[in-house]
Amino acid sequence: MFKKILIANRGEIALRIQRACRELGIKSVMVYSQADRDAKYVRLADEAICIGPPPAAGSYLQMPAIISAAEVSDAEAIHPGYGFLSENADFAERVEQSGFVFIGPTAQSIRTMGDKVSAKQAMLAAGVPCVPGSEGELPDDPTEVRAIASRIGYPVIIKAAGGGGGRGMRVVHTEAALLAAVQMTKSEAQAAFGNPAVYMEKFLENPRHIEIQVLADNHGRAIYLGERDCSMQRRHQKVIEEAPAFGIERALIDRIGQSCANACQRLGYRGAGTFEFLYENGEFYFIEMNTRVQVEHPVTEMITGIDIVQAQIRIAAGEPLPYQQSDVRLHGHAIECRINAEDPYKFIPSPGKVSTWHPPGGLGVRVDSHMYSGYTVPPNYDSMIGKIIVHADTREQAIARMNSALLETVVEGIKTNIPLHRELMVDGGFVAGGTNIHYLEKWLEQHADAHK
Ligand code: ADP
Repeated sequence: MFKKILIANRGEIALRIQRACRELGIKSVMVYSQADRDAKYVRLADEAICIGPPPAAGSYLQMPAIISAAEVSDAEAIHPGYGFLSENADFAERVEQSGFVFIGPTAQSIRTMGDKVSAKQAMLAAGVPCVPGSEGELPDDPTEVRAIASRIGYPVIIKAAGGGGGRGMRVVHTEAALLAAVQMTKSEAQAAFGNPAVYMEKFLENPRHIEIQVLADNHGRAIYLGERDCSMQRRHQKVIEEAPAFGIERALIDRIGQSCANACQRLGYRGAGTFEFLYENGEFYFIEMNTRVQVEHPVTEMITGIDIVQAQIRIAAGEPLPYQQSDVRLHGHAIECRINAEDPYKFIPSPGKVSTWHPPGGLGVRVDSHMYSGYTVPPNYDSMIGKIIVHADTREQAIARMNSALLETVVEGIKTNIPLHRELMVDGGFVAGGTNIHYLEKWLEQHADAHK
């Protein structure tokens, strides 16, 4: 096992990884920007190294600064967390070339999965069902593009091969709008991702977002840890996640989960990963893979009892997975609410000093957050300041527990989205279960007057 790991991230996930290290008896080295000097995990770190100014481009995205920090601190491995450099194949490569272990898959896996066209091709080859669409990148010939669209059937969605973060996508309802939409998506893709390649998919009207968590080791074993439902989204950003997914037959999940595990073995994938699917009318359609730990990993940890971050570290250290598929048992129901420093209804970020922070507690309540009273949320990064996760025997009890946890939580000095979460936990549609990916946006529109 490693003796020392460098954590190349910030916020709640930096603290989460540090906790995993401590339990495994590993020392943690934190790199931080000038804006994060007073962060709790920086103070708790065995070593902490400032790598630059507040803007991420000068600190958390600076590969040479991070690798030098690993060199001077004698760390053996680097954990990238999520966001920042976590899905950057060049970073993974440079880390390994500098003699450190990258806690994640190989650079080649990141590259294959990072390009949505090659990811989809790899999944089709591995027998994972995908959204019907073009075979690879769209050709230049307008006649061919039209033919592909009529074969798929309108509405279709044009997506950038290099896209991410919900950007680089355009829905087309009629042939008249097709070519202009393809052209616009191409130029946007070139500008935003440096890659003009686009592809086409059937646009699913009312899907749910269901994803499968996998773990794969370096010894040919791959397992899936059930599913998560992340359909409660606003602008493609997840707001509430839960596991298991309401109302989907276990046999169907097991079939899709097994196909994901098989795909990992076929691709030589190692570490933690997530296969994201749209689910509509009883069918699963792969959309993309995330080759890192995800924000919502705790709901899976709560229902499986498996520590995903510790598993990532053990796999990177070369240990075989200590469990096989039949050891993975799901218990009860877990829900996560992402707590953001923002206006709950206008969604304008609200950084600043947290004068009071009282997190909730009690049986089955978990808080993953780096907040404390007196902490200042910097304006430079993502607005998520933590996550409240609850676990109970049933979905109904988990909702009741989340309700109680949210009522107990006190955050003063900044605005948060807790009032929105409180409303959603008693909303008829959410409580009934199985809402689709448009539910939250429609709900916000319908309640706009009340929220003015
Ligand atoms: P990103 O990497 O930018 O997150 P994804 O491919 O994961 O892109 O898609 C993000 C979101 O866009 C999905 O969660 C879904 O809401 C919507 N979306 C993507 N593809 C389709 C599709 N074929 N039909 C309907 N909605 C889609």
